[in-house]
Amino acid sequence: MRLHVTYTGGTIGMVESPDGLVPGADLRGWLFQLLRQGSDLDSSKVSLTALDPLIDSSNATPGSWQSIIDDLWRFHDSADAFIVLHGTDTMSYTTSALSYALTDFGKPVVFTGSQHPLGKIESDATANVTGAFNAVLSGHAQGVELFFGHHLFAGNRVTKASSWAFEGFASPITGPVAQSGTPWHWNDAGSEGCGWRNPAPYRQHDIAVVTMVPGISADRLASMLAPHPQAVLIRAYGVGNMPDAVPGLTDAIRAVADGGAPVIVASQCQQAEVMLGRYQAGAGLAEVGACSAVDMTFEAVYTKIMFLLSQGLGAADFTDWVGRPIAGEVSSPQQ
Ligand code: ASP
Repeated sequence: MRLHVTYTGGTIGMVESPDGLVPGADLRGWLFQLLRQGSDLDSSKVSLTALDPLIDSSNATPGSWQSIIDDLWRFHDSADAFIVLHGTDTMSYTTSALSYALTDFGKPVVFTGSQHPLGKIESDATANVTGAFNAVLSGHAQGVELFFGHHLFAGNRVTKASSWAFEGFASPITGPVAQSGTPWHWNDAGSEGCGWRNPAPYRQHDIAVVTMVPGISADRLASMLAPHPQAVLIRAYGVGNMPDAVPGLTDAIRAVADGGAPVIVASQCQQAEVMLGRYQAGAGLAEVGACSAVDMTFEAVYTKIMFLLSQGLGAADFTDWVGRPIAGEVSSPQQ
Protein backbone atom coordinates (compact mmCIF):
# COMPACT_ATOMS: atom_id res chain seq x y z
CA MET A 1 0.00 0.00 0.00
CA ARG A 2 1.40 3.37 -1.01
CA LEU A 3 -0.12 6.41 0.65
CA HIS A 4 -0.13 10.04 -0.40
CA VAL A 5 -1.03 12.81 2.07
CA THR A 6 -1.97 16.33 0.99
CA TYR A 7 -1.67 18.83 3.81
CA THR A 8 -3.64 22.02 3.24
CA GLY A 9 -3.60 23.68 6.69
CA GLY A 10 -6.21 23.88 9.44
CA THR A 11 -6.07 23.59 13.22
CA ILE A 12 -4.37 20.21 13.09
CA GLY A 13 -1.07 21.88 12.18
CA MET A 14 -1.55 25.23 13.91
CA VAL A 15 0.35 26.89 16.75
CA GLU A 16 -0.58 29.75 19.06
CA SER A 17 0.46 33.24 17.97
CA PRO A 18 -0.32 36.72 19.35
CA ASP A 19 -3.02 36.94 16.66
CA GLY A 20 -4.58 33.54 17.40
CA LEU A 21 -3.97 30.11 15.89
CA VAL A 22 -1.89 30.07 12.68
CA PRO A 23 -0.19 27.29 10.65
CA GLY A 24 3.30 26.48 11.95
CA ALA A 25 3.52 23.03 13.61
CA ASP A 26 5.92 20.34 12.39
CA LEU A 27 3.18 18.30 10.79
CA ARG A 28 5.54 16.25 8.62
CA GLY A 29 7.64 15.13 11.62
CA TRP A 30 4.54 14.34 13.68
CA LEU A 31 2.85 12.40 10.90
CA PHE A 32 5.85 10.26 10.03
CA GLN A 33 6.45 9.47 13.71
CA LEU A 34 2.79 8.46 14.07
CA LEU A 35 3.00 6.17 11.06
CA ARG A 36 6.32 4.69 12.22
CA GLN A 37 5.02 3.94 15.71
CA GLY A 38 1.50 2.94 14.88
CA SER A 39 1.67 1.04 11.59
CA ASP A 40 3.87 -1.26 9.60
CA LEU A 41 3.71 1.14 6.66
CA ASP A 42 7.26 1.78 5.48
CA SER A 43 7.83 5.54 5.38
CA SER A 44 9.35 5.18 1.90
CA LYS A 45 5.79 4.28 0.79
CA VAL A 46 4.37 7.55 2.08
CA SER A 47 4.57 10.86 0.22
CA LEU A 48 3.41 14.20 1.55
CA THR A 49 2.69 17.51 -0.15
CA ALA A 50 2.27 20.59 2.01
CA LEU A 51 0.38 23.09 -0.10
CA ASP A 52 1.84 26.57 -0.28
CA PRO A 53 0.53 28.58 1.44
CA LEU A 54 -0.97 26.52 4.24
CA ILE A 55 -4.28 28.13 5.06
CA ASP A 56 -6.97 28.43 7.64
CA SER A 57 -9.75 26.77 5.64
CA SER A 58 -11.86 29.90 6.12
CA ASN A 59 -9.69 31.27 3.32
CA ALA A 60 -10.45 28.39 0.94
CA THR A 61 -11.68 29.30 -2.54
CA PRO A 62 -12.55 27.30 -5.66
CA GLY A 63 -8.86 27.81 -6.53
CA SER A 64 -7.89 25.98 -3.31
CA TRP A 65 -10.16 23.06 -4.28
CA GLN A 66 -8.43 22.93 -7.64
CA SER A 67 -4.94 22.95 -6.04
CA ILE A 68 -5.91 19.85 -4.03
CA ILE A 69 -7.37 18.17 -7.13
CA ASP A 70 -4.16 18.92 -9.06
CA ASP A 71 -2.01 17.50 -6.26
CA LEU A 72 -4.08 14.30 -6.05
CA TRP A 73 -3.80 13.76 -9.81
CA ARG A 74 -0.04 14.40 -9.66
CA PHE A 75 0.30 11.43 -7.31
CA HIS A 76 -2.49 9.32 -8.82
CA ASP A 77 -0.21 6.67 -10.30
CA SER A 78 2.34 6.58 -7.50
CA ALA A 79 -0.09 6.00 -4.59
CA ASP A 80 -2.97 3.62 -3.86
CA ALA A 81 -4.77 5.70 -1.26
CA PHE A 82 -5.00 9.38 -0.39
CA ILE A 83 -5.50 11.38 2.80
CA VAL A 84 -6.12 15.12 2.78
CA LEU A 85 -5.52 17.08 6.01
CA HIS A 86 -7.82 20.10 6.02
CA GLY A 87 -9.27 22.70 8.36
CA THR A 88 -12.68 21.79 9.68
CA ASP A 89 -14.43 25.09 8.92
CA THR A 90 -14.89 24.45 5.20
CA MET A 91 -13.86 20.80 4.96
CA SER A 92 -17.36 19.71 3.92
CA TYR A 93 -17.37 22.28 1.08
CA THR A 94 -14.07 20.92 -0.18
CA THR A 95 -15.12 17.27 0.10
CA SER A 96 -18.36 18.05 -1.79
CA ALA A 97 -16.49 20.00 -4.47
CA LEU A 98 -13.93 17.26 -4.95
CA SER A 99 -16.57 14.53 -5.13
CA TYR A 100 -17.85 16.03 -8.42
CA ALA A 101 -14.42 16.60 -9.90
CA LEU A 102 -12.94 13.20 -9.01
CA THR A 103 -15.56 10.72 -10.21
CA ASP A 104 -12.89 9.26 -12.53
CA PHE A 105 -10.17 9.09 -9.87
CA GLY A 106 -10.76 5.44 -8.95
CA LYS A 107 -8.84 5.51 -5.65
CA PRO A 108 -10.07 6.40 -2.15
CA VAL A 109 -9.56 9.96 -0.90
CA VAL A 110 -10.32 10.50 2.81
CA PHE A 111 -10.25 13.94 4.41
CA THR A 112 -9.69 14.65 8.06
CA GLY A 113 -8.54 17.38 10.44
CA SER A 114 -8.96 18.11 14.12
CA GLN A 115 -10.57 20.44 16.62
CA HIS A 116 -7.30 20.75 18.60
CA PRO A 117 -3.76 21.18 17.24
CA LEU A 118 -1.60 18.05 17.05
CA GLY A 119 0.75 17.29 19.89
CA LYS A 120 -1.59 18.43 22.68
CA ILE A 121 -2.54 15.66 25.08
CA GLU A 122 -6.23 16.50 24.65
CA SER A 123 -6.00 16.66 20.87
CA ASP A 124 -8.19 14.63 18.55
CA ALA A 125 -5.54 14.83 15.79
CA THR A 126 -4.05 11.39 16.36
CA ALA A 127 -7.45 9.68 16.55
CA ASN A 128 -8.69 11.36 13.39
CA VAL A 129 -5.59 10.77 11.29
CA THR A 130 -5.46 7.17 12.49
CA GLY A 131 -9.14 6.77 11.58
CA ALA A 132 -8.60 8.22 8.10
CA PHE A 133 -5.62 5.95 7.69
CA ASN A 134 -7.63 2.87 8.72
CA ALA A 135 -10.43 3.92 6.38
CA VAL A 136 -8.20 4.12 3.30
CA LEU A 137 -6.47 0.86 4.24
CA SER A 138 -9.78 -0.95 4.79
CA GLY A 139 -10.50 -1.58 1.15
CA HIS A 140 -14.07 -0.32 1.71
CA ALA A 141 -13.52 3.43 1.36
CA GLN A 142 -14.57 4.83 -2.00
CA GLY A 143 -14.81 8.18 -3.69
CA VAL A 144 -14.23 11.24 -1.55
CA GLU A 145 -15.01 10.69 2.14
CA LEU A 146 -14.43 12.46 5.45
CA PHE A 147 -13.41 10.81 8.70
CA PHE A 148 -13.99 12.66 11.98
CA GLY A 149 -14.80 11.66 15.54
CA HIS A 150 -15.60 8.01 15.15
CA HIS A 151 -17.36 8.20 11.83
CA LEU A 152 -16.66 8.04 8.14
CA PHE A 153 -19.01 10.09 5.95
CA ALA A 154 -19.64 10.47 2.23
CA GLY A 155 -17.88 13.72 1.33
CA ASN A 156 -20.95 15.27 -0.30
CA ARG A 157 -23.44 14.26 2.42
CA VAL A 158 -21.64 15.71 5.40
CA THR A 159 -21.78 19.00 7.25
CA LYS A 160 -19.85 20.57 10.12
CA ALA A 161 -22.23 20.22 13.04
CA SER A 162 -20.15 21.43 16.00
CA SER A 163 -17.36 23.97 16.41
CA TRP A 164 -16.07 22.18 19.51
CA ALA A 165 -17.22 18.54 19.79
CA PHE A 166 -14.90 15.73 18.79
CA GLU A 167 -17.88 14.38 16.85
CA GLY A 168 -17.74 17.58 14.82
CA PHE A 169 -19.47 16.38 11.64
CA ALA A 170 -22.81 14.81 10.83
CA SER A 171 -24.61 13.45 7.86
CA PRO A 172 -28.24 14.36 8.58
CA ILE A 173 -29.83 12.74 5.54
CA THR A 174 -27.92 9.55 4.91
CA GLY A 175 -26.05 8.92 8.17
CA PRO A 176 -22.40 7.86 8.25
CA VAL A 177 -20.81 5.35 5.89
CA ALA A 178 -19.04 3.63 8.78
CA GLN A 179 -18.42 3.79 12.49
CA SER A 180 -14.91 3.04 13.72
CA GLY A 181 -14.41 0.42 16.42
CA THR A 182 -13.24 -3.12 16.83
CA PRO A 183 -14.24 -4.06 14.23
CA TRP A 184 -15.49 -1.15 12.12
CA HIS A 185 -19.18 -1.23 11.27
CA TRP A 186 -20.01 -0.41 7.66
CA ASN A 187 -23.39 0.70 6.41
CA ASP A 188 -24.66 0.28 2.88
CA ALA A 189 -22.64 2.22 0.37
CA GLY A 190 -24.40 5.44 -0.56
CA SER A 191 -26.08 6.04 -3.86
CA GLU A 192 -23.85 6.48 -6.87
CA GLY A 193 -23.93 9.06 -9.58
CA CYS A 194 -23.47 9.35 -13.29
CA GLY A 195 -19.97 10.82 -12.93
CA TRP A 196 -18.40 13.58 -14.98
CA ARG A 197 -15.71 12.88 -17.54
CA ASN A 198 -12.77 15.27 -17.85
CA PRO A 199 -14.21 18.09 -15.77
CA ALA A 200 -12.93 21.60 -16.47
CA PRO A 201 -11.02 23.08 -13.51
CA TYR A 202 -12.87 24.94 -10.79
CA ARG A 203 -13.10 28.66 -11.39
CA GLN A 204 -14.56 31.32 -9.16
CA HIS A 205 -18.12 32.30 -10.08
CA ASP A 206 -20.47 34.83 -8.57
CA ILE A 207 -23.16 32.92 -6.68
CA ALA A 208 -25.54 34.90 -4.47
CA VAL A 209 -26.74 33.02 -1.40
CA VAL A 210 -29.95 34.41 0.08
CA THR A 211 -31.41 33.20 3.37
CA MET A 212 -35.12 33.86 3.78
CA VAL A 213 -35.94 35.40 7.16
CA PRO A 214 -39.18 36.66 8.66
CA GLY A 215 -39.40 40.38 7.87
CA ILE A 216 -37.25 40.35 4.72
CA SER A 217 -38.27 43.16 2.35
CA ALA A 218 -38.27 43.29 -1.44
CA ASP A 219 -35.85 46.24 -1.39
CA ARG A 220 -33.38 44.36 0.80
CA LEU A 221 -33.59 41.28 -1.41
CA ALA A 222 -33.22 43.32 -4.61
CA SER A 223 -30.14 45.09 -3.25
CA MET A 224 -28.63 41.74 -2.23
CA LEU A 225 -29.09 40.61 -5.82
CA ALA A 226 -27.56 43.72 -7.43
CA PRO A 227 -25.67 43.49 -9.66
CA HIS A 228 -27.22 40.27 -10.85
CA PRO A 229 -25.11 37.22 -9.96
CA GLN A 230 -24.39 34.24 -12.21
CA ALA A 231 -26.64 32.05 -10.05
CA VAL A 232 -28.83 32.46 -6.98
CA LEU A 233 -29.06 29.89 -4.21
CA ILE A 234 -32.06 30.54 -1.98
CA ARG A 235 -32.12 29.06 1.50
CA ALA A 236 -35.89 28.82 1.81
CA TYR A 237 -38.03 27.42 4.61
CA GLY A 238 -39.13 23.81 4.98
CA VAL A 239 -39.91 22.16 1.66
CA GLY A 240 -38.93 25.29 -0.28
CA ASN A 241 -41.24 28.05 0.92
CA MET A 242 -40.72 31.80 1.10
CA PRO A 243 -43.01 34.70 2.03
CA ASP A 244 -45.58 35.17 -0.73
CA ALA A 245 -47.37 37.97 1.10
CA VAL A 246 -44.48 40.44 0.78
CA PRO A 247 -45.05 42.54 -2.34
CA GLY A 248 -42.18 42.45 -4.84
CA LEU A 249 -40.20 39.63 -3.20
CA THR A 250 -40.78 37.04 -5.91
CA ASP A 251 -40.36 39.76 -8.56
CA ALA A 252 -36.82 40.43 -7.33
CA ILE A 253 -35.99 36.77 -7.93
CA ARG A 254 -37.84 36.70 -11.25
CA ALA A 255 -35.74 39.63 -12.49
CA VAL A 256 -32.56 37.60 -11.96
CA ALA A 257 -34.06 34.48 -13.55
CA ASP A 258 -35.27 36.50 -16.55
CA GLY A 259 -31.70 37.74 -16.96
CA GLY A 260 -30.61 34.13 -17.54
CA ALA A 261 -29.21 33.16 -14.13
CA PRO A 262 -30.24 29.82 -12.65
CA VAL A 263 -32.18 30.00 -9.38
CA ILE A 264 -31.76 27.04 -7.03
CA VAL A 265 -33.80 26.47 -3.89
CA ALA A 266 -32.44 24.64 -0.87
CA SER A 267 -33.97 24.37 2.59
CA GLN A 268 -32.80 25.80 5.89
CA CYS A 269 -33.69 22.44 7.47
CA GLN A 270 -30.72 20.12 7.83
CA GLN A 271 -33.03 17.29 6.89
CA ALA A 272 -35.29 18.30 4.03
CA GLU A 273 -36.69 17.39 0.71
CA VAL A 274 -37.44 20.48 -1.34
CA MET A 275 -40.79 20.20 -3.19
CA LEU A 276 -41.48 23.50 -4.91
CA GLY A 277 -45.16 24.32 -5.13
CA ARG A 278 -46.19 21.91 -2.37
CA TYR A 279 -47.45 25.02 -0.57
CA GLN A 280 -48.81 28.17 -2.13
CA ALA A 281 -45.92 29.95 -0.36
CA GLY A 282 -43.49 28.05 -2.59
CA ALA A 283 -45.45 28.42 -5.80
CA GLY A 284 -43.76 31.69 -6.79
CA LEU A 285 -40.38 29.99 -6.84
CA ALA A 286 -41.77 27.21 -9.03
CA GLU A 287 -43.24 29.81 -11.39
CA VAL A 288 -39.93 31.58 -11.93
CA GLY A 289 -38.45 28.22 -12.98
CA ALA A 290 -36.30 27.63 -9.89
CA CYS A 291 -34.64 24.21 -9.48
CA SER A 292 -35.02 22.14 -6.34
CA ALA A 293 -31.92 21.10 -4.39
CA VAL A 294 -34.01 18.09 -3.20
CA ASP A 295 -32.13 16.71 -0.17
CA MET A 296 -28.63 18.02 -0.79
CA THR A 297 -26.68 19.56 2.06
CA PHE A 298 -26.03 23.27 1.68
CA GLU A 299 -22.36 22.56 1.01
CA ALA A 300 -23.21 19.96 -1.65
CA VAL A 301 -25.56 22.25 -3.55
CA TYR A 302 -23.36 25.36 -3.30
CA THR A 303 -20.31 23.53 -4.63
CA LYS A 304 -22.40 21.77 -7.27
CA ILE A 305 -23.50 25.16 -8.62
CA MET A 306 -19.83 26.25 -8.67
CA PHE A 307 -18.97 22.99 -10.46
CA LEU A 308 -21.72 23.33 -13.08
CA LEU A 309 -20.81 26.98 -13.76
CA SER A 310 -17.16 25.93 -14.10
CA GLN A 311 -18.29 23.41 -16.73
CA GLY A 312 -19.87 26.29 -18.68
CA LEU A 313 -23.50 25.24 -18.10
CA GLY A 314 -26.35 27.74 -18.43
CA ALA A 315 -29.74 27.99 -16.73
CA ALA A 316 -31.47 25.46 -19.02
CA ASP A 317 -28.83 22.80 -18.23
CA PHE A 318 -29.26 23.44 -14.51
CA THR A 319 -32.81 22.13 -14.70
CA ASP A 320 -31.34 18.80 -15.86
CA TRP A 321 -28.33 18.67 -13.61
CA VAL A 322 -29.15 20.10 -10.18
CA GLY A 323 -31.30 17.14 -9.14
CA ARG A 324 -29.31 14.48 -10.99
CA PRO A 325 -26.67 12.73 -8.87
CA ILE A 326 -23.13 13.18 -10.20
CA ALA A 327 -21.45 11.50 -7.23
CA GLY A 328 -24.27 10.36 -4.92
CA GLU A 329 -24.88 13.86 -3.51
CA VAL A 330 -28.64 13.81 -3.98
CA SER A 331 -31.25 11.07 -3.61
CA SER A 332 -32.98 10.06 -6.82
CA PRO A 333 -36.69 11.02 -6.86
CA GLN A 334 -37.85 7.39 -6.86
CA GLN A 335 -35.93 6.54 -3.64
N1 ASP B 1 -10.28 27.64 11.39
C1 ASP B 1 -9.79 26.28 11.29
C2 ASP B 1 -9.81 25.88 9.82
O1 ASP B 1 -10.83 25.55 9.31
C3 ASP B 1 -10.65 25.37 12.10
C4 ASP B 1 -10.19 23.93 12.15
O2 ASP B 1 -9.36 23.46 11.43
O3 ASP B 1 -10.74 23.19 13.01
O4 ASP B 1 -8.80 25.92 9.16
